[in-house]
Amino acid sequence: MGTEDRSGVTVTATLNPADVERVVRDVLNRHLGVRPVGDAPGGIPILRSNAPAESSAPAPVAAKRNPLLVNISARHVHLTQEHVEILFGPGGKLTPEKNLYQDGYYAAKETVAVVGPRRRMLPSVRVLGPTRPDSQIELAFTDGISLGIDLPVRISGDVKGTPGCVLVGPHGVVELKQGVIRAMRHVHMGPEDLEYYGVKDGDHMHLRIESEGCTTVLEDLAVRAGKGIKLEVHLDTDEGNACNLEKASKVELVKPEMCKCQH
Ligand SMILES: [Zn+2]
Ligand SMILES: [Zn+2]
Repeated sequence: MGTEDRSGVTVTATLNPADVERVVRDVLNRHLGVRPVGDAPGGIPILRSNAPAESSAPAPVAAKRNPLLVNISARHVHLTQEHVEILFGPGGKLTPEKNLYQDGYYAAKETVAVVGPRRRMLPSVRVLGPTRPDSQIELAFTDGISLGIDLPVRISGDVKGTPGCVLVGPHGVVELKQGVIRAMRHVHMGPEDLEYYGVKDGDHMHLRIESEGCTTVLEDLAVRAGKGIKLEVHLDTDEGNACNLEKASKVELVKPEMCKCQH
C-alpha cells in the first residue's frame, strides 16, 4: 500500500550467507517433495500455511463525492501472528512504522526475504500490519518473473490453490504452501462511494489515468467495499509505472457501460 520504493525495480539475489543457504535449501527440498510439517534442522521452526478468509459489508448512506486517491501498492507481505513469531522470535510483534491511508493499517518496520522455487529471492519485502488469519505475499508480475513464480491474479485474501514460497526472517523460516499472488487492481470504497458511483462490492470499474504520453484506461478494477473504508485505488508498481502515475494530471473512475442487449 503505497509505502515502499515505487521503482518496481526487482532486486533479486541468490542467497549468500552459508547458514541461510543451507536452511533454505533444506526447506526448498521439502517444498518440492513429499514431507509433512516439521521442525527444520538447527531448530528453526517451519510451518505450512492454511486457507483464506476476508470479509466486507457495504451499507448505503447519502451520496457524496469523496476525493479519489490512487496509490501504488508496492510488493508486500501479510503475516499471521504465528508466522510473525516464527520469523521474528517468540512473542514477536509487528512494529508500526508508517500508517497507511486506510485507518488501522500500517507498514511495519519488519521485512522478510521471499524465496522462490529456484532459490532466487527478494531480500527485503515489507510486512504490512495488522496480522491476518492467513499469510499472503503480494508481488508485481515483474517480481514473479524474477522469482520464477507464475503469479495468479487474485483479490487479496483469495489464496486457495496459489503458489507457495519460503519466507526467511531474522529468527526463522516459514514455508508457505500457498499465498503468493499478484493482487487484482482494486478500489476501496465506503458506503457513500458505492452510492455515488452506483456500484456494489465485487463490481468492476475502469480507471482512467491521464498522463502525458501514456494516458491509460485500466479495466477490471474490482470494487472492494467496507464500512469505514476511504475511497482509494490500489495499483501495483508495474501498473503505476506503465502510466507514469506519479506525473498523472487526472484520474477518474468510470462505470462500465452495460451492453445494450444486457449481456
Ligand atoms: Zn496487501
Ligand atoms: Zn488495497
